[in-house]
Amino acid sequence: MVVVATKAKEENVLANILLVSLDENSYQPLGIACVSSALKGGWHAVKMIDGSIQSFNFKEECKNLNLIAISIPVFGALWKTMSFIRELRLYTDTPLFVYNQYASFNQTLFKKFPKCYVLPGDYETLLLKIADYIDKKEDYLRLIENKMPNAWLKENTFFVPDRSNLPPLRSYEKFRSKITGNVELMRGCAHKCTYCSVAACYNGQTKSTPIDIIAADIAQVYALGAKHITFVDADHFSIGAKGLKIIEDLKRTHSDLVFDLTVRADDIVKYANTISNYKNLGCIEMTVAMEFPKEEVLAAINKKMKIDTLYKAVNILNKNDIDIRPTFIVFNPWVTYEEIVGFDDFLKKIGLLNCVDELQKQTRLLLFKGSPLLMQEDIKQLITKEHETYYEWLHPDPRVEELYYGKTKNNDMTRVKCCIKG
Ligand code: SF4
Repeated sequence: MVVVATKAKEENVLANILLVSLDENSYQPLGIACVSSALKGGWHAVKMIDGSIQSFNFKEECKNLNLIAISIPVFGALWKTMSFIRELRLYTDTPLFVYNQYASFNQTLFKKFPKCYVLPGDYETLLLKIADYIDKKEDYLRLIENKMPNAWLKENTFFVPDRSNLPPLRSYEKFRSKITGNVELMRGCAHKCTYCSVAACYNGQTKSTPIDIIAADIAQVYALGAKHITFVDADHFSIGAKGLKIIEDLKRTHSDLVFDLTVRADDIVKYANTISNYKNLGCIEMTVAMEFPKEEVLAAINKKMKIDTLYKAVNILNKNDIDIRPTFIVFNPWVTYEEIVGFDDFLKKIGLLNCVDELQKQTRLLLFKGSPLLMQEDIKQLITKEHETYYEWLHPDPRVEELYYGKTKNNDMTRVKCCIKG
């Protein structure tokens, strides 16, 4: 059954709720759109703010609220959220919930704010329950106390994102100048790469979005002008061959839509005989996290693939005429100065020199709070400073640091985003 957002009627409104997103990698914020749908379906009144492109009048808009919830899906949203909460608390002491993957890693940080609570895992069903409890003046905190992070993935229900009161799709990230709909086929990832926030949050678990909800969302973004779909899932093949089946079904109703998705190199090899189907269905580009072409690096982050696989994957995509967008973590503790300097040689050899932008060559391993890498002794020894949301580390070879800071001109953001969910 498709659950669509229903506008709560004024006379039946239960709780007044403000949903905020401050950064979702320049896409329309699904983190609040999905929750809005759940809450409106439960007769709550919802206002959504995408603070990445909308302004917010704290004095006016904090009046008469019963609940505020802020989605923190990416690292870049963390500091923006903290600064938002500081200002928010000057105007209201309404109960505040932070949620989504980077909230769950930063319990200590958010608990410092008065009446600020971190949700343990997935959020639509839980926030709806909390809103109902608040409306009935019941003890809502017992819903989240003593719950493990990610306790709610399996229990969570998906909803068709409520895109109705967000800025239009044309205001967001476009794929090659085309209005783009960001659509989710699943949550989580089946793998456990140790540097990855998705693995840290979901610990190898996945949950597929029901097909009728995906179909309704695609129809929705199509009606809103989308000419391209970016499937924003961390790893398309984490749901096996099911993704292809879903896209085949969708193309029957929207034959002119084209799309891109994110895949692992080893899955391109594993599912090689289906890649031509993706091309025929309108796949323009696949994003592939290649990390660094050195066996020790791939082993150190538990990537569970070899360099040879990277070459095979590129070959398969080339043969099928699908563009490849590789991502890397060039500055990491397991590479030498010489290997970084020689990185372009690898790109030439594999035929990707023209596909990699300068920013990708500057990406640095991010030791966010909650990273599984922080449990490794070799990593602990490299840490030089603790920040509120991450740890600073130094490469043992000072020439690597000189190279990094020379390239980035000390621009901190380059160390942040290495994939669609980063
Ligand atoms: S890096 Fe990609 S494949 Fe590995 S755990 Fe993260 S999302 Fe999954």
